[in-house]
Amino acid sequence: VTRESDRSEKNMKPQTAITFTHPDRIYWPDAGVTKEGLAEYYAQVWKRMAPFVVDRPLALLRCPEGIDGEKFFQKHGWRGVNKAIHQIKDPKDKEGKPALKIVDFDGLMALVQSGVLEIHPWGTTVKHWEKPDMIIMDLDPAEDVAWSAVIEAAVELKRRIEADGLAAFVKTSGGKGLHVVIPLEPKAGWARAKAYAKRLAEDLAKAEPDRYLAVSTKAKRKGKIFIDYLRNGRGNTAVAPYSTRARPGAAVSMPLSWDELSSDIGPAHFTVENTPTRLSALKSDPWENFFRSAKPLPTK
Ligand code: ATP
Ligand code: MN
Ligand code: MN
Repeated sequence: VTRESDRSEKNMKPQTAITFTHPDRIYWPDAGVTKEGLAEYYAQVWKRMAPFVVDRPLALLRCPEGIDGEKFFQKHGWRGVNKAIHQIKDPKDKEGKPALKIVDFDGLMALVQSGVLEIHPWGTTVKHWEKPDMIIMDLDPAEDVAWSAVIEAAVELKRRIEADGLAAFVKTSGGKGLHVVIPLEPKAGWARAKAYAKRLAEDLAKAEPDRYLAVSTKAKRKGKIFIDYLRNGRGNTAVAPYSTRARPGAAVSMPLSWDELSSDIGPAHFTVENTPTRLSALKSDPWENFFRSAKPLPTK
């Protein structure tokens, strides 16, 4: 029996004060996704996405003319930047240039209005800026690597992460790979977080050198998966859960449960178009316990 209150909460669309100019502007010509379509997509994922994008320093891939136009990877504000995209002081930025953050749904809608087609947060919140609250292991397969091998890499990483007493979550990148994400209690600094990620990557590459690489040397990559641990230093970023990608198909980076990993779901399987169907079919949010699962980094 669905209670009336449940039903109304489900149907509640977040409201916005942001005005959209040219709502019919086409951002993804091949997928036929417009600015207005993107805003509708984000309204549906907002509740789940918010903890991963709110109050975090952000890098933004801005494509005002859509994915086929000019692209700007922005870590700082631009002329006429909307007030809902806050400029904040980065305590360690040498040039004193402000960083960017959003604090609410209007902020996300301002990103849509500005042509931001990819949102790349730091793995930290502004509140504990020097203490990351997640580690992102980015699995980058060479072109000739089978998808089943990428899944095996993710599962093996999970096994190692859990053996260290930490939790592991998985999402599609919306591009070519998978991201394995570790929630952390914000206690250790950037150096320790990156060192942990590096050790994970190097240990895996040492154990199975025919399959994995922990250095990004392009020439050596054939047939292998690069375990990219470099998303985890201060100022590094990775695409946010539910963020769209500025690539053909309007794919998104989709949080999965571990038992969903299969040949049926490739790295760019979930899109702006099919995500609403996925969300309404899900019994529960696979990343529901993400922040509750946070542990401090092991000291050894
Ligand atoms: P894939 O599955 O294709 O590897 P991905 O999200 O893992 O997708 P990229 O999109 O290649 O990988 O991005 C890697 C990282 O580099 C991003 O997380 C982002 O922080 C950074 N990045 C992306 N685009 C730019 C850019 N134009 N300039 C500088 N850094 C970028
Ligand atoms: Mn990648
Ligand atoms: Mn990478």
